[in-house]
Amino acid sequence: MKLTVLGAGREVGKSAVLMESRNSRILMDYGVKIRPEPPEYAPLPPEKPDAVVISHAHLDHSGALPRLYGKWKLPAYMTDVTLNLTQLLIEDSIKIAKKEGYKMPFSEVELAKAVKQTNTINYGQPFKAGNLNCSLFDAGHIPGSASVLVKGDKNLLYTGDIHNEPTSLLRGARLPKGVDVLVTESTYAGRNRVPREKEEEKLIESVEEVIAEGETALIPAFAVGRAQEVLLLLEKYAKYIALDGMAKKATGIVSSHGHRIKDAKKLQGVLDKIMWVRSEKGRAAAMKNRPIILSSAGMLSGGPIISYLRRIADDKEARIMFTGYLVEDSPGWGVLNNKVYNNEGEKFDINCRVEQYELSAHASREGLMRIIEETNPSQVVCVHGDSCEQFAKEIRKTGREAFAPANGETIEL
Ligand SMILES: [Zn+2]
Repeated sequence: MKLTVLGAGREVGKSAVLMESRNSRILMDYGVKIRPEPPEYAPLPPEKPDAVVISHAHLDHSGALPRLYGKWKLPAYMTDVTLNLTQLLIEDSIKIAKKEGYKMPFSEVELAKAVKQTNTINYGQPFKAGNLNCSLFDAGHIPGSASVLVKGDKNLLYTGDIHNEPTSLLRGARLPKGVDVLVTESTYAGRNRVPREKEEEKLIESVEEVIAEGETALIPAFAVGRAQEVLLLLEKYAKYIALDGMAKKATGIVSSHGHRIKDAKKLQGVLDKIMWVRSEKGRAAAMKNRPIILSSAGMLSGGPIISYLRRIADDKEARIMFTGYLVEDSPGWGVLNNKVYNNEGEKFDINCRVEQYELSAHASREGLMRIIEETNPSQVVCVHGDSCEQFAKEIRKTGREAFAPANGETIEL
């Protein structure tokens, strides 16, 4: 069996892993590295794959998918909600590229072809890619996220992005037995992560303070996953929340696939009480009537959140509450670290309070170790991390073979 890392080798971004076994080729994920700009797309595989499987909708795993369809015809496999969310995010990335003047290796035409050739698959439902039997397992990362089990000469599990703890939104990852080769994400392999319950408590305390004091809180959130998670965390305060940006559409998609989340009824209850903002006029009304504004984009790279940010930047009684990781040099990172918003030619000082809560959707370092122990593979391939080589070295100490291939490298397993 051969494995070629086309992207996400010793880095986070543009995930793409090609597996070859029994005369079949399966591509797992086909993403884009969004930052630093301009975006970098996963390279084309050297030969046509028999199938492509997309683990989840985040663009660093799905954002290059249409590129394949400019050259080939091949089936794609993913869960139903992943298809809808992927389409939403790629359409948005095409819009952004047009606005910013980036060249993309595909257009709406190839996206439509990709959607047409996609088969939606349930967790646990067997499907065949080339000569290989495959199935998907809930990865607990965002709604619809999946790890991919491929049965070739050896049984390989590709984790995708994985989170093996339950959250307010998701149940947590499920793992198969009988894994020979584990291709694991390594996001937190070399980083410490604060316990999530503590962060959730702090976030709720801060929101309670805002409501009691009659202040305003702006919560930037990733449209997919994080926005719905925060809505559920703040269930009790739903009547104080306004929702804006692409997070609205993403939330609509997630709630229409209620079987993919932990408690669809609870989410619907929240959605019935919040204010859905649809215009600039609505934004002014939200600022008056709703102390908690939840909006994308999570790193302040664009979207209606900027309109709110301008309004509260000089208000010392207001606060910005980041709910996740900020890529270095993203506009959100500048707000948190330098108290300056600087993006697309616009620059202003931030004089309100800035807070950060780490609600990670990835396994912690201990979580990754637990995944390795539970699946018990003889070989581990570390991808999608800043310290993959160090992680592989530590895994080798536990008596398993471990690799951290660079982009473009092929390993024989
Ligand atoms: Zn992800």
